[in-house]
Amino acid sequence: MTDAMFFEKIDGGDVRCGLCCHFCRIRPEKRGICGVRENDGGALKTLVYGKLIAMHADPIEKKPLYHFMPGHLSYSIATAGCNFRCLHCQNAEISQIPAGKGLIPGEFVEPERVVAEALAAGCISIAYTYTEPTIFFEYALDVSRIAADKGLKNVFVSNGYLSEEAARTIEPYLDAINVDLKGDDGFYRKVCGARLEPVKRTIELLWRLGIWVEVTTLIIPGYNDSDATLRDIAEFLSGISPDIPWHVSAFYPTYKLKDAPPTPAKTIRRAAEIGRRAGLHFVYDGNVPGEEEKTTCSACGEALVERFGFRVARNGVVDGRCPACGEGVPGVW
Ligand code: SF4
Ligand code: SF4
Repeated sequence: MTDAMFFEKIDGGDVRCGLCCHFCRIRPEKRGICGVRENDGGALKTLVYGKLIAMHADPIEKKPLYHFMPGHLSYSIATAGCNFRCLHCQNAEISQIPAGKGLIPGEFVEPERVVAEALAAGCISIAYTYTEPTIFFEYALDVSRIAADKGLKNVFVSNGYLSEEAARTIEPYLDAINVDLKGDDGFYRKVCGARLEPVKRTIELLWRLGIWVEVTTLIIPGYNDSDATLRDIAEFLSGISPDIPWHVSAFYPTYKLKDAPPTPAKTIRRAAEIGRRAGLHFVYDGNVPGEEEKTTCSACGEALVERFGFRVARNGVVDGRCPACGEGVPGVW
């Protein structure tokens, strides 16, 4: 067990965890909602420091991050655990830790080794992904400091539930983040065991802090596919900045949502249209098989980046600008 950051002792030997917006009150010898932080005699410990269950090189497009150095490989790591309980989690076998004192899977890997292996694999960033990086925050922070020192970028793929204190702590080392903005507050309560507002606050805070932010919404028929829900999400993003890329992606029945149907392609197209009408400049209709995803210049419409699946077929951005009209292309190029 490793000392955890962000906690305070409260009465009766309990501790309050301040890492994510659940702010769990944890009784002695118990764990928080994520199942990977434990009150050990009045001190909070993390049970997942360095306990990796995944390490491999992925295209950055898979995160997805489309405006962040397209076409590069990102060394992707995860531990077990998550602070959400999404009924549609595609990684439930690693994200959901059984309640109680269950053993946590994973093999200890020194932070230095992650960075060395990322460099050896030709990666230029490290992605903290697959489960929820917030819950292995202490390790992510240590890896990201070393990575930044060696010239690597750091990216989170997150549900956006980290506390403001945690966000401001990782900010100096974090270059980009993809945040899931999943639905309205009812969706968060019913499907994820969380709330909407903290996620919105995180997106706005990180954007204002200058971290490159992209947002993903997985559309589940009957749950979060109404025009009103999609418009609220799109208008919220557009209100922060029309330059935030929005990825709308299709659901396939999984985990505890096997009864919901797959998302029809027409729903994805409707969502994308709602995004564009809300003023968003970059809307991507993700994971509809066989469809190309292009980035076009928001000023003149020139095709700038062409992708097939996770492969970048062409990147025509020159020094961060459209070569046809000279308009700046938001992102990190
Ligand atoms: S990280 Fe979140 S879920 Fe886990 S113990 Fe802390 S407040 Fe609770
Ligand atoms: S936030 Fe992501 S990893 Fe966590 S339960 Fe939900 S879908 Fe799974």
